[in-house]
Amino acid sequence: MICLLNVLSSLFSTFRVYTHPKPMSSAHLSRTLLLTVVPALLCAQTPNHPVHNMPAKTIYPAAVHRSALVIDTHADTPQRFVDEHFDLADPLRGGQLNLDSARKGNLGAEFFSIWVDPEQYKGQYAHRTLELIDSVKQQVARHRDKLEFVATPAGIDLAHREHKMAVLMGIEGGHSIENSIPLLRQYYALGVRYMTLTWTNSNGWADSSGDIDDTTVPHTKEGLTEFGKDVVYEMNRLGMMVDISHVSDRTFFRTLVISRAPVIASHSSARALCDAPRNMTDDMLRAVARSGGPNSRGGVVQVNFYSGFLSQAYRDASKSLEPEMKKAVQALKDQAIAAGKPIPYDEIEKLQRQYGDRIPRPPFSVLIDHIDHIAKVAGVDHVGLGSDFDGISGQLPEGINSAADLPKITEALMARGYSAEDCRKILGGNLLRVFREVQQVARELQAENRPRITDKQPFDKVQK
Ligand SMILES: [Zn+2]
Repeated sequence: MICLLNVLSSLFSTFRVYTHPKPMSSAHLSRTLLLTVVPALLCAQTPNHPVHNMPAKTIYPAAVHRSALVIDTHADTPQRFVDEHFDLADPLRGGQLNLDSARKGNLGAEFFSIWVDPEQYKGQYAHRTLELIDSVKQQVARHRDKLEFVATPAGIDLAHREHKMAVLMGIEGGHSIENSIPLLRQYYALGVRYMTLTWTNSNGWADSSGDIDDTTVPHTKEGLTEFGKDVVYEMNRLGMMVDISHVSDRTFFRTLVISRAPVIASHSSARALCDAPRNMTDDMLRAVARSGGPNSRGGVVQVNFYSGFLSQAYRDASKSLEPEMKKAVQALKDQAIAAGKPIPYDEIEKLQRQYGDRIPRPPFSVLIDHIDHIAKVAGVDHVGLGSDFDGISGQLPEGINSAADLPKITEALMARGYSAEDCRKILGGNLLRVFREVQQVARELQAENRPRITDKQPFDKVQK
């Protein structure tokens, strides 16, 4: 009751901002009501954030952000859970995601990345994968009042209605399945809902953009081997989103030809704006928008916030520092080997961060440029947020320091003319639509009971 009164009193101040000097027409009045009352009432559902504390001129983007179900599809925080014993209730301590920042940023759902370093954990990929999965579940067990472990789109909705952050998981790097479809199925059973086919390492059945030019690494002939196609089919059949972030261009197009469900890029930006091999060309952006079967509404590209994928200037500067940094990293490794000690990966991470910190941060606008570019090329229904928080050594554009800064994205998008509806799609609606469709395709495939995928689809799909 008190909250509703606050909302109503705030509307008077809002009306002062929007009121026209001449008498309002009924159309104008209903538009004004739509622009102010609806967001404000939606905002009223979140009692911790009273509208009356916000300056009148910023009430609209803030209310839109509050009314959105915000979904981020990539955070590497599980490394911190396991290696640093980090708890989500702790202060950020150099990271970008904890309970406090998630609440301030109105983060409704997070896909925690289950990433296994292929060099460090050689021979123990499944072991490390399971430890990371467990670490996510332990966090939920510790914070049941604030977090809800979910594995369906309906679960995300439900957690949001209960004012809890939905916790989900995605595997980053197909090497985690150790060439085993049964392992893939067990990861699904544990709640994993997407998998990037590769990380920066090719894995024998799918190629990575990270080593595609390295002639010492064996690569597939056509982007996916027969086993790789089986993996994609089984992911479609299970209802696990096929994630094409990190894969080589050839693997990307091969995957899109065979995937029955729309695909996602959980954390990828636009190559037209920043020439990183794991960013996506305009053709790839359009192909994601068309991915899935003939009745599909298409996939989604979730923009990565890493400065080195957003800003060409940052990327060029970091390239020029690279030889010096590689030398320093190698020296650390050599020291450890000489002393018979394990490779100090945490110190290597610190060193990389120090080098990154020497480069000026790009302006906040570069992040919005990428969202805007993908929305223009692929369509506003095909872009979202895949921050890569806690996985990019803190190298973010100015103004984005943690999940608490997510509302700035809504504010900037609206300043560029994006409607409230567009913003809600970008903030999470698009991903939720794709997730629903992926699970629907799984039900259809399970009913078909096809043994495996073939190049020939039941429908004739022409794709590049
Ligand atoms: Zn990644």
